[in-house]
Amino acid sequence: MSALQFIIVFGLLGVSFGLSGRFWHITDLHWDPTYDLNNKPNKVCASSGNRPVGNAGTFGDYVCDSPWDLISSSLSAMKAISPAPDFIVWTGDDTPHVPNEQLGEEAVLGIINNLTYIIKQLFPNTKVYSALGNHDFHPKNQLPAASHNIYNITSELWKDWLHLESQETFRQGGFYTEELLNRTGYRMIVLNTNLYYDQNKETKGVEDPAGQFAWADHILTEAANKKEKVYIIGHVPPGFFEKKRSKPWFTAKFNQQYLKLIQKHHAVILGQFFGHHHTDSFRMIYNSDGSPVSTIFLTPGVTPWKTTLPGVADGANNPGIRLFEYDTETLLVKDMVTYYLNLTFANKAQERWEKEYRLTESFRVSDASPHSMHKVLERIANDNCYLQKYYEYNSVSYDLTECNEDCRIDHVCAAREVDFSRYEHCLEKETAVFMCGGLLPFLSALISLVLTIHV
Ligand SMILES: [Zn+2]
Ligand SMILES: [Zn+2]
Repeated sequence: MSALQFIIVFGLLGVSFGLSGRFWHITDLHWDPTYDLNNKPNKVCASSGNRPVGNAGTFGDYVCDSPWDLISSSLSAMKAISPAPDFIVWTGDDTPHVPNEQLGEEAVLGIINNLTYIIKQLFPNTKVYSALGNHDFHPKNQLPAASHNIYNITSELWKDWLHLESQETFRQGGFYTEELLNRTGYRMIVLNTNLYYDQNKETKGVEDPAGQFAWADHILTEAANKKEKVYIIGHVPPGFFEKKRSKPWFTAKFNQQYLKLIQKHHAVILGQFFGHHHTDSFRMIYNSDGSPVSTIFLTPGVTPWKTTLPGVADGANNPGIRLFEYDTETLLVKDMVTYYLNLTFANKAQERWEKEYRLTESFRVSDASPHSMHKVLERIANDNCYLQKYYEYNSVSYDLTECNEDCRIDHVCAAREVDFSRYEHCLEKETAVFMCGGLLPFLSALISLVLTIHV
């Protein structure tokens, strides 16, 4: 085969010549140290609150946060599936969902320490980019826009993963940036978006907490000047929760500021990776002419804990971990594979981590670029088979009930619109489409049938 034929054949097959790399993304481990099967049936775990713990087993229960066996199982699964990733992204929330009185600064730091330790033990030579979650603080959610003992100690615990300059900014506000794997032309930005969480009283009304927006704007401007390619990671994402209508996390102002930052610098940002939802979803960011310019990938949690958020009917999930495949030259996100533990099966029969799905296979796209993710979203929005598939993955194959029209609107609008007013407009528009495309013709057919019978 001549060189040209080779290029044509492989060109037609769509084979990418860029080098392929891999990284793990894990999030929301939420270790509950009180988990104890000896306290069956009523007090297996503090994180269940007053809810009955029905199916407690070695690897946990859907109303509890993770027992240590689940933490260690998920990390061992990572080691077994892909033992030498280029790096690991870990986006926080380490402690259990319990009232503040049941934790304290020391307990929170102890939990962060234990999780850091097990990750280091299993991946001693792997670079870890680690972001703080809203639960990695005492009192929870109240991460300050200034130096704090918890930032100091955590930066000490993570010092093997942080350059000296990173430790400095981390101590001042819980964020940092470094060249990705020390490679010129590549950058990782680790944000502390807990500063923008509407539950955070410490930063309420502050224009730019810890100067993080100005800092990120500066780093991204520099990145453009230096022609760098950038990944951004953080815990709490902007936009809305897809399982509860009109439920955002950021305050309106911070949401707007974040969106503006990404729209301004999207050309250098090749991917954003967040947690906090415990569900598997994504958020699209479009520019003013409607072109997709960036995607926020939301990786499901390790904890199966059923949320107590009012209005969410059955918000548990199976434990999930995710492997990203990316082009090491362009940082294009090529694909992602989610692995999961069916908790019921694991407790009853055996600890079996299995592949749940691969993005490009399940949604028939060539990669995970913003254009491809836009296609995925349009398929979910317009094709019930894709919608149902997405919906089952959303809870990591825990909730297999049908995603009805209201559910479709909630998920589609949350993924499509990060901006508050555009999201509300999307809800109105999608509801109107349903009335015109679905319910109205049905009603008019029914009326004419009734009239026909009557006549
Ligand atoms: Zn969480
Ligand atoms: Zn969180």
